[in-house]
Amino acid sequence: MGNRNIILLTVECLRSDHTSYSGYQKETTPTLSSLAEESLNFTNAFSVSPWTPLSFTATLTSTYPLLFDGVVNPIQKNRISIAKILQENGYKTISLAGGWLNPLYNYTRGFDSHNKMDIATALRLAKYSSFWFLVFNRLSEKFKLTDIYRDKIYRKARYQDFENSQSLLKNRRILPQVKKNLDQNMFLWIHYSDSHPPWYPAKEFHFPNTSSNYEEAREVNERVRENILERKPGELNLSEDELQKITALYDGEIRGVDEAINRLIEELKDLGIFEDSYLIITGDHGIELMEHDDWGHGINLYDELVHVPLLIRGPDIESKKIDEPVSLIDIPPTISDLLNLRKPKSFMGDSLLKNKRRKGVFLENAQEKRKDFSREGRKVVLDLEKSKYGYRTDKYKYILTRGEEEELYNLESDQKEQENIADERPEIRNRFRKIVLNHIEFEKEFSEKNRIKGKVESLQEKGI
Ligand SMILES: [Zn+2]
Repeated sequence: MGNRNIILLTVECLRSDHTSYSGYQKETTPTLSSLAEESLNFTNAFSVSPWTPLSFTATLTSTYPLLFDGVVNPIQKNRISIAKILQENGYKTISLAGGWLNPLYNYTRGFDSHNKMDIATALRLAKYSSFWFLVFNRLSEKFKLTDIYRDKIYRKARYQDFENSQSLLKNRRILPQVKKNLDQNMFLWIHYSDSHPPWYPAKEFHFPNTSSNYEEAREVNERVRENILERKPGELNLSEDELQKITALYDGEIRGVDEAINRLIEELKDLGIFEDSYLIITGDHGIELMEHDDWGHGINLYDELVHVPLLIRGPDIESKKIDEPVSLIDIPPTISDLLNLRKPKSFMGDSLLKNKRRKGVFLENAQEKRKDFSREGRKVVLDLEKSKYGYRTDKYKYILTRGEEEELYNLESDQKEQENIADERPEIRNRFRKIVLNHIEFEKEFSEKNRIKGKVESLQEKGI
């Protein structure tokens, strides 16, 4: 028996319904389709939140992001990352993520090695940082430095040539480290981000309706970006033609990431470590393509934003479809279970290998109130007054938005969540409202207890 490696592959903005194995009409994911045949295929998996930093808080630490008064970054010491657990159990932990998921925000905690920040990320995060970064950011906005950089990188490299895609670059960076550590157990996490907008898929992965012209792709990306900056839901000004074009660009990026996953797997097979490893593939959240008159991600809790693929493959794992709803908060306990490791008390999810399934999954999101800087790292403080909570079962979706009307959808007759029946079905609405209010109350009490515990600990540290 070889080493029991854990390989976690996550894909930006990957909607379940845009994978070909879930019935999408375009052949976006041939690799995932063949993996799905050999995996536990969770057909109703949901990310906790539609926004990267919140989603990964749940996916890496099995805690709800709005706990602890909505302070999500850095992943605090009371949120224990699965990477830390594996590290403590002798695993070599290696990550290649990026964007939010960087050392500044502590998403690399528990990893022996991780990516350094690239210049694009540094520029983007600059506005969240110190005074000089702020100055730098203002200048870069004024002189369009990030645009120039983006143009250069996409036009000269990525758009023209898949071999220079970020996804392949991540494969190339992780493989030498894998080769160096073949004699020990490894936890590999790659977050493929090419499928995050703006989308400039490589030429070989264009779908019909996608222009192979960089300028046209750029134009449609810019058009959407302008709309987002204004962000007036219901007033976004995308024509049907533009929507089709941008969707095709998105699908092309998914096809590229799928190919990168294929190549990684081939390399791992050549090294002889694939068959004995556990492979987990999912998306961090989805993306809205005007289904609810809005575009992008990070605000709403509709299925296009939270329904993601989830495949688990490995030794002794049977291949079958599981249709009950599951949450990405269940991934860390599942990894603990796969390796027979102790599950920390802080994990709030359940192992997906158990037959006991959830009746429904909780969804959460909040907007950013401010960013704080501390010695531990950057913190994003969420505005809980502007939060959204959801609960989704196989039949219903309930959404509670602070200060706004409640929403309830019957997913059997209205899969696209277009007809709000909260007023028509008060008995169901009240039942779900109670479940969600209990969840909020639980989070409040939990956070309060944590606050008191923190105060006691700091007093003890000071010797009082
Ligand atoms: Zn994301």
